[in-house]
Amino acid sequence: MSAKIQSLRGFNDILPEQTALWRRLFEAVQQVMDAYGYREIKLPLLESTDLFRRSVGEATDIVEKEMFSFVDREKASISLRPEGTAGCVRAGIENGLLHNQQQRLWYQGPMFRHERPQAGRYRQFHQVGLEAYGMLGPDVDVEILALCARLWKRLGLNDIRLEINSLGTPETRVRFRDALVEYLSARIDRLDADSKRRLYTNPLRVLDSKDESTREVLLHAPKLADLLDAESREHFAAVLAGLDALSIDYVINPNLVRGLDYYSRTTFEWTTDQLGAQGTVCGGGRYDGLVSLLGGGEVPAIGFAMGVERLILLMQQQVQLPDLGSPEVYFCWLGDATFVQAAQLAEQLRDAGLRVQLNAGGGAFKAQMKRADRCGAGIALILGEQELAQGVVQVKSLRGGEPQTEVAWTELVPGLQARLAGPISA
Ligand code: ATP
Ligand code: MG
Repeated sequence: MSAKIQSLRGFNDILPEQTALWRRLFEAVQQVMDAYGYREIKLPLLESTDLFRRSVGEATDIVEKEMFSFVDREKASISLRPEGTAGCVRAGIENGLLHNQQQRLWYQGPMFRHERPQAGRYRQFHQVGLEAYGMLGPDVDVEILALCARLWKRLGLNDIRLEINSLGTPETRVRFRDALVEYLSARIDRLDADSKRRLYTNPLRVLDSKDESTREVLLHAPKLADLLDAESREHFAAVLAGLDALSIDYVINPNLVRGLDYYSRTTFEWTTDQLGAQGTVCGGGRYDGLVSLLGGGEVPAIGFAMGVERLILLMQQQVQLPDLGSPEVYFCWLGDATFVQAAQLAEQLRDAGLRVQLNAGGGAFKAQMKRADRCGAGIALILGEQELAQGVVQVKSLRGGEPQTEVAWTELVPGLQARLAGPISA
């Protein structure tokens, strides 16, 4: 007996009953991106491992322990993308989209991270990401936050809160880092093991620590806000004023710090209390240094990535969804002689834009009606040998109480259209 083959841990099947929500989400994403003039870019799932080492950074969780990396047949190290920004910048430079230009781009698709699977955290997950190049802000910073807020509204999602902070310039952060390292080194005994290590590899990440003793030490640590340069202060104030003007609520979170050198100024997360520990549905910020780090010259940039599965979980809690994709009409046919006519009529109905499921695999009348009921259609059509001889079909309502009627083939399209537009099946 052979062992049962199962999916890989953290790699999920997304079944048809869920895909209606996915479709609803991506329709909204498309509409909102269009509304702000962002254009979709499609990027490869595999890139050279070096790209992520250089852009995401060696001292991050992602590169340290979460990447799916392989040696390919040419003995090169390649990785399944853990995020989309690196590939987007690579593609922008390679295709000459960035130098002296403005670009508003978005992408979506699967990302891969080898982390411990739990609710809202998977090894293959999906992101919708956005990147805006060539604009220093603060106007575009406000724009992309307004875009997020519009998306939540369009999806019918409440309780998503904006947390925002400014990281200043890289120079500000060098000063902050030095001050932080000095402060923490003097209190190193009270830090957890991860934080001790990070103190020397990536000290700003200590600010993310969930350890109680470390958190206590951090309470009195130097604050980045106190070290901000004047221009960054002005930039941040303008972003907040823009949010106020557009009535977008926010909370300033001084501990919201991304630990990479190329991040600068605006940084933000959208979070919810409805998803337990995995409450961040979107994270992003300004990364003015990255394009140059990857060889593309000085190009200011800002972007975000949202976790699709987490948004879907929220939609499951909060959104009433009418059945989107199911057939409107189930077509029963009885007796071998009727198939050709039934298939032709079904094609005519589809030509007219109706969603039609034509019975297949035989079955007695009762079995076919059961399928009709199960598939969610509002109307069943029945073509038996008698109807074939008379050029008609029976039209039977599966939901409302309308009486069964007999309709001539020539009247079928307008008859069904009227019926589907009517109050009962609408
Ligand atoms: P977290 O702190 O939850 O690990 P992160 O900082 O690693 O998040 P980002 O790299 O900023 O996340 O990715 C943006 C978004 O993608 C996150 O806010 C989250 O919604 C989603 N996301 C990240 N990792 C996963 C995952 N393993 N499974 C599902 N969604 C994820
Ligand atoms: Mg993570």
